[in-house]
Amino acid sequence: STESAERTVQRLKEQGVDVVRIGYPDLIGTDRGKDVLVERLPDVCESGVAFCRAVYYTSPQGDVVPVPGGLDEGLPDISIHPDLSTLVPLSWEPGVAYCLGDAVNPATGEAFPESPREVVRAAAARLAELGLTGVVGPELEYFLMEPDGAGWKRYDDAPGNVYVVGAKGDKGSHVLRTLRTLRGMDLGVTMGNHEFSGGQFEINLHHSEAVDAADRAFRFKSAIKELARRDGLLATFMAKPFNDEGGSGFHIHLSCVDESGRNVFDDPSGAYGLSESARYAIGGILAHAPALAALLNPTINSYKRFGPDTLAPWLIDWGLDNRSAMLRVPPERGAGARLEVRLGDASANPYIAIAGLLAAVYLGIRDRVEPPAPLSGYGYDTSKAPVLPMSLPVALDALGADTALSEVLGKEFTAAYLAYKRNEVERFSQFITDWEFREYAYHL
Ligand code: GLU
Ligand code: MG
Ligand code: MG
Repeated sequence: STESAERTVQRLKEQGVDVVRIGYPDLIGTDRGKDVLVERLPDVCESGVAFCRAVYYTSPQGDVVPVPGGLDEGLPDISIHPDLSTLVPLSWEPGVAYCLGDAVNPATGEAFPESPREVVRAAAARLAELGLTGVVGPELEYFLMEPDGAGWKRYDDAPGNVYVVGAKGDKGSHVLRTLRTLRGMDLGVTMGNHEFSGGQFEINLHHSEAVDAADRAFRFKSAIKELARRDGLLATFMAKPFNDEGGSGFHIHLSCVDESGRNVFDDPSGAYGLSESARYAIGGILAHAPALAALLNPTINSYKRFGPDTLAPWLIDWGLDNRSAMLRVPPERGAGARLEVRLGDASANPYIAIAGLLAAVYLGIRDRVEPPAPLSGYGYDTSKAPVLPMSLPVALDALGADTALSEVLGKEFTAAYLAYKRNEVERFSQFITDWEFREYAYHL
Protein backbone atom coordinates (compact mmCIF):
# COMPACT_ATOMS: atom_id res chain seq x y z
CA SER A 1 0.00 0.00 0.00
CA THR A 2 0.97 3.67 -0.39
CA GLU A 3 1.31 4.06 3.34
CA SER A 4 3.93 1.36 3.65
CA ALA A 5 5.69 2.74 0.55
CA GLU A 6 5.83 6.07 2.36
CA ARG A 7 7.33 4.42 5.43
CA THR A 8 9.86 2.73 3.13
CA VAL A 9 10.79 6.11 1.63
CA GLN A 10 11.38 7.44 5.16
CA ARG A 11 13.63 4.50 6.04
CA LEU A 12 15.56 4.78 2.76
CA LYS A 13 16.14 8.50 3.28
CA GLU A 14 17.48 7.75 6.77
CA GLN A 15 19.86 5.24 5.17
CA GLY A 16 21.07 7.93 2.75
CA VAL A 17 19.31 6.39 -0.27
CA ASP A 18 18.03 8.91 -2.81
CA VAL A 19 17.46 6.65 -5.84
CA VAL A 20 15.70 3.29 -6.19
CA ARG A 21 16.74 1.17 -9.13
CA ILE A 22 13.76 -0.97 -10.16
CA GLY A 23 14.95 -4.02 -12.06
CA TYR A 24 13.36 -7.04 -13.65
CA PRO A 25 14.47 -9.86 -15.93
CA ASP A 26 13.57 -10.00 -19.61
CA LEU A 27 13.10 -13.34 -21.39
CA ILE A 28 16.83 -14.03 -21.71
CA GLY A 29 17.59 -12.86 -18.17
CA THR A 30 19.02 -9.41 -18.93
CA ASP A 31 18.57 -7.00 -16.02
CA ARG A 32 16.24 -4.24 -17.29
CA GLY A 33 14.93 -1.34 -15.28
CA LYS A 34 14.64 2.28 -14.40
CA ASP A 35 16.18 4.54 -11.77
CA VAL A 36 13.52 6.34 -9.73
CA LEU A 37 14.02 9.25 -7.34
CA VAL A 38 13.15 7.96 -3.88
CA GLU A 39 10.32 10.47 -3.30
CA ARG A 40 8.53 9.12 -6.40
CA LEU A 41 8.44 5.57 -4.97
CA PRO A 42 4.92 5.76 -3.48
CA ASP A 43 3.55 6.81 -6.90
CA VAL A 44 5.44 4.05 -8.63
CA CYS A 45 4.12 1.49 -6.11
CA GLU A 46 0.60 2.75 -6.80
CA SER A 47 0.64 2.81 -10.61
CA GLY A 48 3.80 0.96 -11.64
CA VAL A 49 6.40 2.23 -14.06
CA ALA A 50 5.66 1.79 -17.73
CA PHE A 51 8.00 0.25 -20.29
CA CYS A 52 7.68 -0.49 -23.95
CA ARG A 53 6.96 -4.20 -24.29
CA ALA A 54 9.93 -4.35 -26.70
CA VAL A 55 12.11 -5.15 -23.66
CA TYR A 56 10.80 -8.71 -23.90
CA TYR A 57 11.00 -8.90 -27.66
CA THR A 58 14.30 -7.31 -28.66
CA SER A 59 17.41 -9.36 -29.44
CA PRO A 60 20.78 -8.45 -27.86
CA GLN A 61 21.66 -7.04 -31.31
CA GLY A 62 18.75 -4.60 -31.05
CA ASP A 63 16.31 -6.17 -33.53
CA VAL A 64 12.67 -6.37 -32.54
CA VAL A 65 11.87 -10.08 -32.72
CA PRO A 66 8.43 -10.98 -34.09
CA VAL A 67 6.79 -12.56 -31.03
CA PRO A 68 3.01 -12.81 -30.62
CA GLY A 69 1.80 -9.91 -28.46
CA GLY A 70 4.72 -7.71 -29.53
CA LEU A 71 5.05 -5.70 -32.73
CA ASP A 72 1.89 -7.35 -34.10
CA GLU A 73 0.01 -5.52 -31.34
CA GLY A 74 1.97 -2.28 -31.70
CA LEU A 75 4.34 -2.92 -28.81
CA PRO A 76 2.06 -1.64 -26.04
CA ASP A 77 3.23 -0.94 -22.48
CA ILE A 78 4.00 -3.31 -19.73
CA SER A 79 3.97 -1.93 -16.26
CA ILE A 80 6.51 -2.88 -13.58
CA HIS A 81 5.40 -2.90 -9.96
CA PRO A 82 8.16 -2.83 -7.34
CA ASP A 83 8.26 -5.73 -4.87
CA LEU A 84 9.40 -3.85 -1.78
CA SER A 85 10.30 -7.07 0.02
CA THR A 86 13.34 -7.29 -2.29
CA LEU A 87 14.67 -3.78 -1.63
CA VAL A 88 18.37 -3.68 -0.73
CA PRO A 89 20.93 -0.82 -0.78
CA LEU A 90 23.73 -1.48 -3.30
CA SER A 91 27.02 -1.72 -1.39
CA TRP A 92 29.03 -0.51 -4.42
CA GLU A 93 26.74 2.38 -5.40
CA PRO A 94 26.17 4.63 -2.37
CA GLY A 95 22.76 6.28 -2.35
CA VAL A 96 21.15 3.64 -4.57
CA ALA A 97 18.89 0.79 -3.46
CA TYR A 98 17.89 -2.02 -5.81
CA CYS A 99 14.36 -3.40 -5.95
CA LEU A 100 12.93 -6.18 -8.12
CA GLY A 101 9.70 -5.53 -9.94
CA ASP A 102 6.85 -7.61 -11.31
CA ALA A 103 5.48 -7.14 -14.81
CA VAL A 104 1.76 -6.43 -15.14
CA ASN A 105 -0.36 -5.96 -18.25
CA PRO A 106 -1.80 -2.48 -17.64
CA ALA A 107 -4.74 -3.22 -19.94
CA THR A 108 -5.96 -6.08 -17.73
CA GLY A 109 -4.17 -5.52 -14.41
CA GLU A 110 -3.07 -9.16 -14.61
CA ALA A 111 0.45 -10.48 -14.15
CA PHE A 112 2.25 -10.62 -17.48
CA PRO A 113 2.46 -14.33 -18.47
CA GLU A 114 5.88 -13.85 -20.11
CA SER A 115 7.36 -12.42 -16.90
CA PRO A 116 10.09 -14.90 -15.87
CA ARG A 117 9.34 -14.23 -12.20
CA GLU A 118 5.73 -15.16 -12.87
CA VAL A 119 6.75 -18.35 -14.67
CA VAL A 120 8.75 -19.62 -11.69
CA ARG A 121 5.87 -18.69 -9.37
CA ALA A 122 3.45 -20.64 -11.57
CA ALA A 123 5.67 -23.74 -11.42
CA ALA A 124 6.13 -23.35 -7.65
CA ALA A 125 2.34 -23.11 -7.25
CA ARG A 126 1.85 -26.44 -9.04
CA LEU A 127 4.36 -28.13 -6.72
CA ALA A 128 2.46 -26.56 -3.81
CA GLU A 129 -0.66 -28.47 -4.99
CA LEU A 130 1.28 -31.59 -3.96
CA GLY A 131 2.04 -30.00 -0.57
CA LEU A 132 5.65 -29.37 -1.55
CA THR A 133 7.98 -26.37 -1.68
CA GLY A 134 11.00 -26.51 -3.98
CA VAL A 135 14.31 -25.57 -2.36
CA VAL A 136 17.08 -24.44 -4.68
CA GLY A 137 20.80 -23.78 -4.26
CA PRO A 138 22.42 -22.05 -7.27
CA GLU A 139 26.06 -22.54 -8.29
CA LEU A 140 27.24 -20.24 -11.07
CA GLU A 141 30.49 -20.29 -13.02
CA TYR A 142 31.73 -17.45 -15.20
CA PHE A 143 34.79 -16.10 -16.99
CA LEU A 144 36.40 -12.71 -16.54
CA MET A 145 37.87 -10.98 -19.57
CA GLU A 146 40.32 -8.10 -19.69
CA PRO A 147 40.85 -5.54 -22.45
CA ASP A 148 43.02 -6.66 -25.36
CA GLY A 149 43.36 -3.89 -27.91
CA ALA A 150 39.87 -3.32 -29.30
CA GLY A 151 38.58 -6.63 -27.91
CA TRP A 152 38.82 -8.86 -24.85
CA LYS A 153 41.06 -11.69 -23.74
CA ARG A 154 40.77 -14.18 -20.92
CA TYR A 155 41.67 -12.57 -17.58
CA ASP A 156 44.85 -13.71 -15.84
CA ASP A 157 45.52 -16.55 -18.21
CA ALA A 158 47.34 -18.72 -15.65
CA PRO A 159 48.72 -21.85 -17.32
CA GLY A 160 47.65 -25.39 -16.45
CA ASN A 161 45.20 -26.58 -13.84
CA VAL A 162 44.11 -23.69 -11.65
CA TYR A 163 41.11 -25.43 -10.04
CA VAL A 164 40.63 -24.19 -6.44
CA VAL A 165 44.17 -22.79 -6.28
CA GLY A 166 43.27 -20.00 -3.86
CA ALA A 167 44.88 -16.66 -4.65
CA LYS A 168 47.04 -18.08 -7.46
CA GLY A 169 45.45 -17.33 -10.81
CA ASP A 170 43.52 -14.41 -9.30
CA LYS A 171 45.89 -11.48 -9.64
CA GLY A 172 43.24 -8.90 -8.74
CA SER A 173 41.90 -10.89 -5.75
CA HIS A 174 38.58 -11.04 -7.61
CA VAL A 175 37.05 -13.80 -5.45
CA LEU A 176 38.05 -12.17 -2.18
CA ARG A 177 36.83 -8.72 -3.14
CA THR A 178 33.61 -10.05 -4.62
CA LEU A 179 32.71 -12.07 -1.51
CA ARG A 180 33.26 -9.00 0.65
CA THR A 181 31.31 -6.67 -1.63
CA LEU A 182 28.35 -9.04 -1.93
CA ARG A 183 28.16 -9.94 1.74
CA GLY A 184 25.14 -8.25 3.33
CA MET A 185 23.35 -7.82 -0.02
CA ASP A 186 20.78 -10.58 0.74
CA LEU A 187 22.27 -12.71 -2.01
CA GLY A 188 23.17 -15.60 0.29
CA VAL A 189 26.71 -15.69 -1.11
CA THR A 190 28.58 -18.38 0.84
CA MET A 191 31.94 -19.09 -0.85
CA GLY A 192 33.89 -18.77 -4.04
CA ASN A 193 36.77 -20.46 -5.83
CA HIS A 194 38.90 -20.47 -8.93
CA GLU A 195 37.46 -22.88 -11.50
CA PHE A 196 39.34 -25.20 -13.85
CA SER A 197 40.31 -22.57 -16.43
CA GLY A 198 42.40 -19.43 -16.03
CA GLY A 199 40.02 -16.50 -15.57
CA GLN A 200 37.11 -18.78 -14.61
CA PHE A 201 35.46 -18.51 -11.19
CA GLU A 202 32.57 -20.01 -9.27
CA ILE A 203 30.58 -18.48 -6.44
CA ASN A 204 28.02 -20.46 -4.47
CA LEU A 205 24.74 -19.15 -3.14
CA HIS A 206 22.94 -20.59 -0.14
CA HIS A 207 19.77 -22.61 -0.80
CA SER A 208 16.28 -21.22 -0.25
CA GLU A 209 12.72 -21.38 -1.58
CA ALA A 210 12.75 -21.44 -5.40
CA VAL A 211 11.44 -17.94 -6.26
CA ASP A 212 13.81 -16.35 -3.77
CA ALA A 213 16.70 -18.47 -5.07
CA ALA A 214 15.90 -17.40 -8.64
CA ASP A 215 15.79 -13.75 -7.53
CA ARG A 216 19.19 -14.11 -5.89
CA ALA A 217 20.79 -15.93 -8.83
CA PHE A 218 19.48 -13.23 -11.20
CA ARG A 219 20.69 -10.38 -8.98
CA PHE A 220 24.02 -12.17 -8.46
CA LYS A 221 24.72 -12.40 -12.20
CA SER A 222 23.88 -8.79 -12.69
CA ALA A 223 26.06 -7.76 -9.71
CA ILE A 224 29.05 -9.75 -11.04
CA LYS A 225 28.73 -8.08 -14.44
CA GLU A 226 28.42 -4.65 -12.85
CA LEU A 227 31.39 -5.14 -10.49
CA ALA A 228 33.56 -6.40 -13.36
CA ARG A 229 32.61 -3.36 -15.48
CA ARG A 230 33.74 -1.14 -12.63
CA ASP A 231 37.12 -2.92 -12.69
CA GLY A 232 37.38 -2.40 -16.46
CA LEU A 233 36.70 -6.12 -16.98
CA LEU A 234 33.96 -8.06 -18.73
CA ALA A 235 32.30 -10.90 -16.81
CA THR A 236 30.63 -13.40 -19.10
CA PHE A 237 28.16 -16.14 -18.23
CA MET A 238 28.24 -17.32 -21.83
CA ALA A 239 28.15 -21.14 -21.83
CA LYS A 240 31.36 -21.90 -23.73
CA PRO A 241 33.37 -18.81 -24.64
CA PHE A 242 36.60 -20.61 -25.66
CA ASN A 243 37.35 -23.54 -27.93
CA ASP A 244 40.16 -24.83 -25.74
CA GLU A 245 38.62 -24.38 -22.27
CA GLY A 246 35.66 -25.94 -20.47
CA GLY A 247 32.37 -24.10 -20.31
CA SER A 248 30.57 -22.41 -17.44
CA GLY A 249 27.89 -24.41 -15.68
CA PHE A 250 24.84 -23.38 -13.70
CA HIS A 251 24.50 -26.34 -11.36
CA ILE A 252 21.20 -26.30 -9.53
CA HIS A 253 20.84 -28.10 -6.20
CA LEU A 254 17.27 -29.08 -5.63
CA SER A 255 15.15 -30.64 -2.91
CA CYS A 256 11.56 -30.41 -1.71
CA VAL A 257 10.21 -29.79 1.76
CA ASP A 258 6.72 -30.53 3.06
CA GLU A 259 4.49 -28.16 5.08
CA SER A 260 6.43 -28.95 8.25
CA GLY A 261 9.72 -28.06 6.53
CA ARG A 262 10.95 -31.66 6.39
CA ASN A 263 13.10 -32.60 3.38
CA VAL A 264 10.93 -35.20 1.65
CA PHE A 265 13.78 -36.44 -0.57
CA ASP A 266 15.36 -38.18 2.41
CA ASP A 267 14.27 -41.70 3.35
CA PRO A 268 16.74 -43.91 5.25
CA SER A 269 14.66 -46.99 4.34
CA GLY A 270 14.50 -46.20 0.59
CA ALA A 271 16.98 -47.34 -2.05
CA TYR A 272 20.18 -45.23 -1.75
CA GLY A 273 18.56 -43.44 1.22
CA LEU A 274 16.24 -41.60 -1.17
CA SER A 275 12.48 -41.32 -0.94
CA GLU A 276 9.88 -42.22 -3.53
CA SER A 277 9.38 -38.51 -4.30
CA ALA A 278 13.13 -38.06 -4.88
CA ARG A 279 13.04 -41.03 -7.27
CA TYR A 280 10.06 -39.60 -9.17
CA ALA A 281 11.69 -36.16 -9.24
CA ILE A 282 14.74 -37.74 -10.90
CA GLY A 283 12.39 -39.60 -13.25
CA GLY A 284 10.63 -36.35 -14.18
CA ILE A 285 13.85 -34.45 -14.83
CA LEU A 286 15.24 -37.26 -17.01
CA ALA A 287 11.96 -37.76 -18.89
CA HIS A 288 11.68 -34.04 -19.71
CA ALA A 289 15.42 -33.44 -20.23
CA PRO A 290 15.29 -32.75 -24.00
CA ALA A 291 12.72 -29.98 -23.43
CA LEU A 292 14.51 -28.73 -20.31
CA ALA A 293 17.65 -28.25 -22.40
CA ALA A 294 15.82 -25.51 -24.32
CA LEU A 295 15.33 -23.67 -21.01
CA LEU A 296 18.57 -24.50 -19.16
CA ASN A 297 20.79 -24.34 -22.26
CA PRO A 298 19.13 -21.49 -24.09
CA THR A 299 21.74 -20.35 -26.63
CA ILE A 300 23.29 -21.66 -29.83
CA ASN A 301 26.59 -21.62 -27.97
CA SER A 302 25.19 -23.71 -25.05
CA TYR A 303 25.42 -26.95 -27.03
CA LYS A 304 29.17 -26.55 -27.50
CA ARG A 305 29.59 -27.01 -23.73
CA PHE A 306 28.15 -30.55 -23.84
CA GLY A 307 30.47 -33.39 -24.63
CA PRO A 308 32.30 -36.41 -23.28
CA ASP A 309 34.96 -35.98 -20.56
CA THR A 310 34.11 -32.35 -19.83
CA LEU A 311 32.37 -32.41 -16.40
CA ALA A 312 29.51 -30.91 -18.37
CA PRO A 313 26.84 -33.45 -19.29
CA TRP A 314 26.38 -35.18 -22.61
CA LEU A 315 23.93 -38.00 -21.86
CA ILE A 316 20.55 -38.04 -20.13
CA ASP A 317 21.63 -39.96 -17.04
CA TRP A 318 21.87 -39.79 -13.27
CA GLY A 319 24.31 -41.15 -10.74
CA LEU A 320 25.22 -41.28 -7.07
CA ASP A 321 27.91 -38.67 -6.44
CA ASN A 322 28.90 -39.00 -10.11
CA ARG A 323 30.06 -35.80 -11.83
CA SER A 324 30.01 -37.34 -15.28
CA ALA A 325 26.21 -37.61 -15.07
CA MET A 326 23.65 -34.97 -16.02
CA LEU A 327 22.12 -35.33 -12.57
CA ARG A 328 24.30 -36.09 -9.56
CA VAL A 329 22.90 -37.08 -6.19
CA PRO A 330 25.40 -35.64 -3.68
CA PRO A 331 26.27 -37.99 -0.78
CA GLU A 332 24.53 -36.00 1.99
CA ARG A 333 21.27 -37.39 3.35
CA GLY A 334 18.88 -36.20 6.04
CA ALA A 335 18.08 -32.50 5.73
CA GLY A 336 20.83 -32.23 3.06
CA ALA A 337 19.38 -34.90 0.72
CA ARG A 338 19.17 -33.26 -2.71
CA LEU A 339 19.76 -33.49 -6.43
CA GLU A 340 22.49 -31.55 -8.22
CA VAL A 341 21.25 -30.93 -11.74
CA ARG A 342 24.39 -30.28 -13.79
CA LEU A 343 22.55 -29.76 -17.08
CA GLY A 344 22.20 -25.97 -17.04
CA ASP A 345 24.85 -23.57 -18.21
CA ALA A 346 25.54 -20.12 -16.82
CA SER A 347 23.83 -18.34 -19.73
CA ALA A 348 20.39 -19.59 -18.63
CA ASN A 349 17.87 -17.13 -17.29
CA PRO A 350 17.80 -18.34 -13.65
CA TYR A 351 14.04 -17.86 -13.39
CA ILE A 352 13.30 -19.92 -16.47
CA ALA A 353 15.86 -22.63 -15.63
CA ILE A 354 14.49 -23.03 -12.10
CA ALA A 355 10.89 -22.90 -13.33
CA GLY A 356 11.65 -25.66 -15.84
CA LEU A 357 13.14 -27.91 -13.16
CA LEU A 358 10.27 -27.32 -10.73
CA ALA A 359 7.82 -28.16 -13.52
CA ALA A 360 9.68 -31.40 -14.33
CA VAL A 361 9.83 -32.36 -10.64
CA TYR A 362 6.11 -31.65 -10.30
CA LEU A 363 5.30 -33.80 -13.35
CA GLY A 364 7.65 -36.57 -12.20
CA ILE A 365 6.02 -36.80 -8.77
CA ARG A 366 2.47 -36.33 -10.07
CA ASP A 367 2.86 -38.92 -12.83
CA ARG A 368 5.02 -41.27 -10.70
CA VAL A 369 7.77 -41.42 -13.33
CA GLU A 370 10.30 -44.17 -12.52
CA PRO A 371 13.87 -43.26 -13.46
CA PRO A 372 16.25 -45.76 -15.03
CA ALA A 373 18.86 -47.36 -12.76
CA PRO A 374 21.62 -44.98 -11.66
CA LEU A 375 24.70 -44.85 -13.75
CA SER A 376 27.68 -46.80 -12.51
CA GLY A 377 31.08 -45.42 -13.42
CA TYR A 378 31.81 -43.48 -16.58
CA GLY A 379 28.86 -41.32 -17.62
CA TYR A 380 29.81 -40.60 -21.21
CA ASP A 381 29.16 -44.05 -22.68
CA THR A 382 26.45 -43.79 -25.33
CA SER A 383 25.56 -47.47 -24.94
CA LYS A 384 24.26 -46.66 -21.44
CA ALA A 385 21.93 -43.69 -21.98
CA PRO A 386 20.45 -41.39 -24.65
CA VAL A 387 22.36 -38.29 -25.78
CA LEU A 388 21.05 -34.80 -24.93
CA PRO A 389 19.85 -32.60 -27.79
CA MET A 390 23.04 -31.44 -29.45
CA SER A 391 21.73 -28.15 -30.83
CA LEU A 392 19.31 -25.40 -29.86
CA PRO A 393 16.81 -26.10 -32.68
CA VAL A 394 16.54 -29.75 -31.63
CA ALA A 395 15.95 -28.71 -28.01
CA LEU A 396 13.36 -26.12 -29.05
CA ASP A 397 11.48 -28.77 -31.01
CA ALA A 398 11.54 -30.99 -27.90
CA LEU A 399 10.10 -28.12 -25.84
CA GLY A 400 7.46 -27.48 -28.48
CA ALA A 401 6.47 -31.16 -28.34
CA ASP A 402 6.43 -31.37 -24.53
CA THR A 403 2.84 -30.30 -23.93
CA ALA A 404 2.84 -31.39 -20.27
CA LEU A 405 5.81 -29.17 -19.44
CA SER A 406 4.52 -26.16 -21.39
CA GLU A 407 1.13 -26.47 -19.70
CA VAL A 408 2.85 -26.06 -16.30
CA LEU A 409 5.03 -23.16 -17.49
CA GLY A 410 2.10 -21.48 -19.25
CA LYS A 411 1.21 -21.81 -22.93
CA GLU A 412 1.64 -18.07 -23.57
CA PHE A 413 5.11 -18.07 -22.05
CA THR A 414 6.18 -21.16 -23.97
CA ALA A 415 4.88 -19.75 -27.26
CA ALA A 416 6.69 -16.43 -26.73
CA TYR A 417 9.90 -18.17 -25.67
CA LEU A 418 9.86 -20.52 -28.66
CA ALA A 419 9.18 -17.65 -31.09
CA TYR A 420 12.02 -15.58 -29.61
CA LYS A 421 14.50 -18.46 -29.63
CA ARG A 422 13.55 -19.71 -33.10
CA ASN A 423 14.24 -16.23 -34.40
CA GLU A 424 17.70 -16.44 -32.79
CA VAL A 425 18.35 -19.75 -34.59
CA GLU A 426 17.15 -18.20 -37.84
CA ARG A 427 19.38 -15.14 -37.50
CA PHE A 428 22.37 -17.36 -36.73
CA SER A 429 21.72 -19.66 -39.68
CA GLN A 430 21.98 -16.65 -42.01
CA PHE A 431 25.19 -15.28 -40.45
CA ILE A 432 28.60 -16.08 -41.91
CA THR A 433 31.05 -17.00 -39.15
CA ASP A 434 34.87 -16.77 -38.88
CA TRP A 435 35.00 -20.55 -38.97
CA GLU A 436 33.35 -20.70 -42.39
CA PHE A 437 35.78 -18.15 -43.77
CA ARG A 438 38.78 -20.05 -42.35
CA GLU A 439 37.48 -23.38 -43.56
CA TYR A 440 36.39 -22.39 -47.05
CA ALA A 441 37.81 -19.08 -48.24
CA TYR A 442 41.38 -20.19 -48.94
CA HIS A 443 40.82 -23.77 -50.03
CA LEU A 444 37.70 -23.69 -52.14
N1 GLU B 1 32.55 -26.28 -15.76
C1 GLU B 1 31.80 -27.51 -15.63
C2 GLU B 1 30.44 -27.34 -16.30
O1 GLU B 1 30.38 -26.74 -17.29
C3 GLU B 1 31.64 -27.94 -14.20
C4 GLU B 1 32.91 -28.07 -13.42
C5 GLU B 1 32.63 -28.41 -11.95
O2 GLU B 1 32.18 -29.54 -11.67
O3 GLU B 1 32.81 -27.54 -11.13
O4 GLU B 1 29.42 -27.78 -15.85
MG1 MG C 1 32.19 -25.70 -10.55
MG1 MG D 1 28.58 -28.30 -8.70
